[in-house]
Amino acid sequence: MINFKKARDRMVETQLISRGIRNPRVLEAMRKVPRHLFVDEALRDQAYSDYPLPIGDKQTISQPYIVALMTETLDLQGHEKVLEIGTGSGYQAAILAELADRVFTIERYPNLAYRANQVLQKLGYKNIVTRVADGTLGWPDEAPFDGILVTAGAPRIPQPLVDQLAPEGRLVIPLGDRLSQELALVERTEKGIHQTYLGGVRFVDLVGKWGWEG
Ligand code: SAH
Repeated sequence: MINFKKARDRMVETQLISRGIRNPRVLEAMRKVPRHLFVDEALRDQAYSDYPLPIGDKQTISQPYIVALMTETLDLQGHEKVLEIGTGSGYQAAILAELADRVFTIERYPNLAYRANQVLQKLGYKNIVTRVADGTLGWPDEAPFDGILVTAGAPRIPQPLVDQLAPEGRLVIPLGDRLSQELALVERTEKGIHQTYLGGVRFVDLVGKWGWEG
């Protein structure tokens, strides 16, 4: 029987701190959320390994480091309203829920959304709302958002997401082609939209009106 808490602590030391993740609240959330419950039982012993894992429908739960990096980039203090595109397993949503006030998360596959929702409910998260829809359109009824995280690779920045960003809001999105992307940080500042790049990543496709064709 694996000691999952120990595996998490080790993951934080060897995969996150060693690669420069510094935000103590992010590290604490990664030490706390039981990632193994978000993957299939047969994959539980690999849940804290340094790579992504399949979650069904040809989709993946991201590598722990990428989850930590994207989360740290949002720079959450605790009062924020956050939108995630690509619920997948629900793991990233749980990490966000530890660090923000409210999390809205959108998934295009109903069965993934259903399963994620079940795990999140079982773990007692009351500040996460899930929806099945095309997330490239954002969630206009709940906008604006202080942070938006896109956890699938996009060919361009979906304009609705920029429009739904609050003043000083941050959008983190992998941009590129279908094989590899650059992680982009898009900030809404007083002077306008500011874009910076954080390094190379590999995500599954963002499929939708402002994403790839399905
Ligand atoms: N954040 C997830 C991993 C995401 S994998 C986790 O923590 O497990 C990417 C997810 O984005 C997949 O589940 C895929 O179905 C979903 N996706 C792709 N395009 C989408 C869109 N337009 N709207 C909502 N979800 C989308």
